[in-house]
Amino acid sequence: MSTTTGLSGREAAVIAAVPSGLFIGGAWRPASGGGTVPVDDPSTQEVIAEVADGTVEDGRAALDAAVAAAPAWAATAPRERGEILRRAFELITARSEDLALLMTLEMGKPLKESRGEIAYAAEFFRWFSEEAVRISGRYSVAPNGATRLLTMKQPVGPCLFITPWNFPLAMGTRKIGPAVASGCTMVVKPATQTPLSMYALAQIMTEAGLPAGVLNVITTSTTGKVMEPLIRDRRLRKLSFTGSTEVGKRLVEQSAEQLLRVSMELGGNAPFLVFSDADVAAAVDGAMLAKMRNMGEACTAANRFIVHESLATDFAAGLSARMSALTVGRGTQDGVDVGPLVDLPSQRKVGELVQNAVDGGAKVLAGGQAVGERGYFYAPTVLTQVAPDARLLGEEIFGPVAPITTFSTDAEALELANGTEYGLVAYAYTKDLSRAMKVAEGLDTGMVGLNQGIVSNPAAPFGGVKHSGFGREGGAEGIEEYLETKYVGIAL
Ligand code: NAP
Repeated sequence: MSTTTGLSGREAAVIAAVPSGLFIGGAWRPASGGGTVPVDDPSTQEVIAEVADGTVEDGRAALDAAVAAAPAWAATAPRERGEILRRAFELITARSEDLALLMTLEMGKPLKESRGEIAYAAEFFRWFSEEAVRISGRYSVAPNGATRLLTMKQPVGPCLFITPWNFPLAMGTRKIGPAVASGCTMVVKPATQTPLSMYALAQIMTEAGLPAGVLNVITTSTTGKVMEPLIRDRRLRKLSFTGSTEVGKRLVEQSAEQLLRVSMELGGNAPFLVFSDADVAAAVDGAMLAKMRNMGEACTAANRFIVHESLATDFAAGLSARMSALTVGRGTQDGVDVGPLVDLPSQRKVGELVQNAVDGGAKVLAGGQAVGERGYFYAPTVLTQVAPDARLLGEEIFGPVAPITTFSTDAEALELANGTEYGLVAYAYTKDLSRAMKVAEGLDTGMVGLNQGIVSNPAAPFGGVKHSGFGREGGAEGIEEYLETKYVGIAL
């Protein structure tokens, strides 16, 4: 990988260590059109690398490789598949410092957050290395006693994975892990803004012993044009997408042509509920995690703080003090808590959402503006007295902005929480077990964090309902997304 300008020696070295080209059939090759796409550092706006600009032909070649590798990979012993994942887990862990720096350079998050993501990403490989040898079927006697019923699990076949920029490695490993474990082959298309981590992973998978063609990675500046023929290709059997609801809906339509198995991990608008009996200090701790992980650029980010009116002043004061104390800066620097947003449109959108809320009467308790002379930084922001029709209560903010609204009854809190087309995750703080259970049951979301501000866990089924998508990643459920059930009726 060639690098450019203003990088330190070590920064340039970790970028240079990423192989150049598309990764197809176990080999690195330039794009067939010879083009490249720039990758920039969102904290300096400087181009730090160029990656291959894949064409429609390259996309097809990647699928050809996945299809060719599928029969042998499906027949590979589960233990061997698991051990490859285990070795990859160990390699990622051993190289986590370099991988974290690479991720910070291409995505902007502070190094400590990148380290967290590397560990989280690697854990999917450890988890699914253990799941690979636990795939089993069922045998039973038919109710009439005349036949026997055998069910077996088989890999769904070649898969296409499309991943976003906000978690450049983990959004890939939580698809690649179960696919490798279950015996599927795949083409991965990382986000154009953050391709380096995925290419570094492809190199690690090769070192871990993954056979050629099982994992293929392509990048392109003409994403829709390169992806659509693959989604419509009859040889593809599964599409797993993580990204925006808008793009996800389009891909579901395309996937109907071949009736693909589909998993959609889409946007969110997470409510963070603080009930009257909650421990305010604990709720503020949880709010910092739920809001500020990844600078607020997470599908699980708390988007609306819905606080009982008796605690609202204390909660807002506590949260503002914590948000104001955060250090904003380039993620590679020591002591930085908050990196830049990923690009200029993101920074502008966050600014517009805050302005719209302020125009509607919101009060700014902390932050409230873009900061820095270059890079896409935005100050950690807390808003109170936010009008119900403020845009940022209905849209994904995807930035470090915490709008606080209030409620008086539990029924009102649930109604506000569920008043969105999204349904990924909700957070609730209460010490009352009965209230906690009623709230958990009443929330229209795929996940609930009870007295905790983070739910992501490789051992748990991650996913949403409504416009947040369908399918689950992680946990025992995660591997089911990559398995077909075949039933064999046996006459005696
Ligand atoms: P995005 O614009 O939907 O992009 C996601 C991926 O889709 C990228 O790889 C992108 O490629 C690709 N893409 C864009 N247009 C496409 C098309 N027409 N056909 C095929 N692929 C296409 O989303 P984003 O802005 O990167 O990510 C943020 C969104 O992801 C947020 O809404 C967030 O909530 C969601 N997200 C959800 C989860 C979850 O698990 N539920 C996790 C993380 C993020 P290019 O980069 O080349 O455009």
